[in-house]
Amino acid sequence: MAIRRRKIRELVQTLLTEAKVTEAPVPVWEIARTRGARIVVESLDGDLSGFLYRDSSQKIIGVNTQHASVRQNFTVAHELAHLLLHDQEQLHLDRAFSTVRLRDDVSSQGVDGDEIEANLFAAEILMPESFLRHDLSGRRTLDLYEEDLIPELARKYGVSVQALMFRLQYLGYIEG
Ligand SMILES: [Zn+2]
Repeated sequence: MAIRRRKIRELVQTLLTEAKVTEAPVPVWEIARTRGARIVVESLDGDLSGFLYRDSSQKIIGVNTQHASVRQNFTVAHELAHLLLHDQEQLHLDRAFSTVRLRDDVSSQGVDGDEIEANLFAAEILMPESFLRHDLSGRRTLDLYEEDLIPELARKYGVSVQALMFRLQYLGYIEG
């Protein structure tokens, strides 16, 4: 299955426009709710990040409270992607996202295409390229050791430093 990068970018753009979001942090929980999801926050099994449950009457996104808030944000975004893009089983469980490396294609990873799409969607919605470009005010590249810029930005976007680094790499700000 090919990764639908353009479709994902367009979907994210629509959601941001609908929610009138123009800067970080993106209220992804609120966006998920406006798309009909009920978010249930509970203590789940250790390595379980979250789940999506859906039947004809409800859509539930489950988030593991044992994980850091930045990871919870990523989980909500990831499950929202499944809700909007994928026709999966009634209960979809997500274990720790070890696959945030978005540049690798499906075949080299041996990972389910749906998971790569959901991670790409999460990165796109939590860290929109135009928002980053604005916050990086015209820079072309970033020095990894540049003071506290990356941790500061990660805080602003509500994502982990690692997720932000992958995103900046993906967008070409940092050399891989
Ligand atoms: Zn998933």
